[in-house]
Order: sequence, then structure tokens, then C-alpha cells
Amino acid sequence: MSKPHFDKIALIGIGLVGGSIALDVRRRGLAKSIVAATRRSETAATANRLKLVDHCGTDLAAACAGADLVIVCTPVGVCGEVARTIAPKLEPGCLVSDVGSVKQTVIADMAPHIPKGVHFVPAHPVAGTENSGPEAALHGLFEGRWCILTPLPGCDGEAVARLEAFWKALGSEVEKMDPANHDRILAITSHLPHLIAYTIVGTADDLGGHLNSQVLKYAAGGFRDFTRIAASDPTMWRDVFMNNREAVLEVLQRFQEDLSYLQRAIRWGEGDKLFELFTRTREIRRALIHLHQA
Ligand code: NAP
Repeated sequence: MSKPHFDKIALIGIGLVGGSIALDVRRRGLAKSIVAATRRSETAATANRLKLVDHCGTDLAAACAGADLVIVCTPVGVCGEVARTIAPKLEPGCLVSDVGSVKQTVIADMAPHIPKGVHFVPAHPVAGTENSGPEAALHGLFEGRWCILTPLPGCDGEAVARLEAFWKALGSEVEKMDPANHDRILAITSHLPHLIAYTIVGTADDLGGHLNSQVLKYAAGGFRDFTRIAASDPTMWRDVFMNNREAVLEVLQRFQEDLSYLQRAIRWGEGDKLFELFTRTREIRRALIHLHQA
């Protein structure tokens, strides 16, 4: 067990990410107490039954009273509203962070509500699964994964260092990045792949009658991996696309051009073009395995 990093941690939202933070904070003794608050009483009851935190309720502001670390773990579309709700209970010196998959809009939505004397350090742990809710919480979810911090200009260096130490204690590797850069990188590495998965599964489902059942029967051939990604939480992913619009549209444009290139190569029987690309992409997979990110 490590020395506690914080006296009281408050998690706002306790689904896959919030619940997984809670499990490892308790297991590693990173806080003297940890509480949570969520929107629905059913979710709070599940979190209490699973003993993810000392107590989970539905009063978001009350949960933050006396906390020295507050982490907003809700879908990105409600982060601003959450910051406005909890602001009156945030105490001077408190560190406020989030785990949102998009950074620029979350910062724009949350920052105006953060009171003077409270430190806001946005973060994104790049780790997850297709499951959601408190029952999806996992021990060790962040182990060996990146956590990207996107500190605002002029923010308190000590607060950033404390958050960095916290994520390292959860097993993550930490990198600091400009929020716009974060959103561009995640658009290609995470958001576009999810959009493609949602599209393929939707297209297969739209294929009529007999063909549709055959698709499901023989799903093992690559399609199954897409169905796993396309099972990801609809609210979370709607919010990601609504909040990272520009970066996603930019990579989507590039992707469509590259897809047209392959379409042409297939049409004209230019197998060498396909072979060349597939060889290059195989190397990328091998490099990822080497970096322990696959
Ligand atoms: P999740 O499992 O669906 O959990 C979301 C939590 O937020 C639930 O406890 C939900 O509570 C709560 N919530 C929703 N709206 C709320 C509101 N208006 N006020 C208070 N609580 C509210 O989602 P997740 O996968 O943990 O994702 C949470 C955040 O982490 C998102 O911003 C996402 O972008 C980011 N993230 C996700 C992943 C991933 O792979 N899933 C990875 C990295 C980062 P109720 O059930 O009570 O509504």
C-alpha cells in the first residue's frame, strides 16, 4: 500500500472509469476516504452494493464538501453542468480533474465554473472497455496505459505534479499535452475507429433478411471485433462526436480519400497497391505490440 495521496477523493459519476478509479484507489490506499455521487439512485445503489466507494449518493455538490481531489467521470456532454453544480462546495486548494475523452470542449465548459483558489487540471486516461456502468469497473484498468494531462496555461505546477503522481500510483504512464493536440490524436486513434465500427455493424444490420442472419452466423471473420467496439456506450460516444467535431471531420475526410484509393485499386485489379499498404499496416501492429499498447 502507498501513502495516501489525498484525504478525501470525490468521484462525480461512477461508471466504468469512475468505478475503476475507485477500486484501485481503495486497493492501493491512495485516499483516506473516497466517496461518489451520480445522477440516478439505481446507479448509486449498485455502487454501494459493490462497495466501490465508502458512500455513493445522488447529491453531486454534497459529495465534494471537504474533498481535496474531485474527479468528474461523467460523459463529456454534461461536464460543464456538473462543474456548475459542484462549484459552491469546492474548497480552496482542492484539485478538480476529469477523465473525458475530449479535452477542448470539456475545458471550455468546465473552466468558467471553477472558483478562484481551486486548481483545475484536465486529464484523460487512455484506457477502457466497451462496457459501462459501475458493474463494468475493473481492477488494474489503468495499469501500463497512458494518462494524458492537458494543464491550462498558468495553472499551479504543484497541482499538476500531484495529479501526475496520483495517476502514476494507479499504474499509468503520464504525458502532458496541449488540448488541441490531444483532440487531433484521439480523433484518429480512438474516435474514427469507433465511428467505423458503428458504421460497419449498422451496414451489416441493414442488409436484408437471409443475408443478415448469415452475417451474424459467420461473425468470426473480423466482424466480431467490430461488434465489440460498436457495443460501446451510446451516450458517451454521441457526446465524443458532438464535442470533437472538427478533428473528427478532418480525419474522416482523409480516411474517405484513402478508402477511395483502395476502392480504385480493387476496381482496376491493382493488387500491388493493396499489398504495399497491408505490409505497412502489419508493421504498425508489430510496433504496437513492441510498445505494449496492443
Ligand atoms: P459510464 O460507465 O457510462 O459512466 C458514466 C457515469 O456518469 C455514470 O455513473 C452516470 O450515472 C454518470 N452520469 C451521467 N450523466 C450524469 C449527470 N448529468 N450527472 C451526474 N452523473 C452523470 O461511462 P464511462 O465509460 O465511465 O465514461 C465516463 C467518462 O470517461 C466519459 O467522459 C468518457 O469520455 C471517459 N472515458 C471513457 C473511456 C471508455 O473506454 N469507456 C475511456 C477513457 C475515458 P447514472 O448511471 O446515474 O446516470
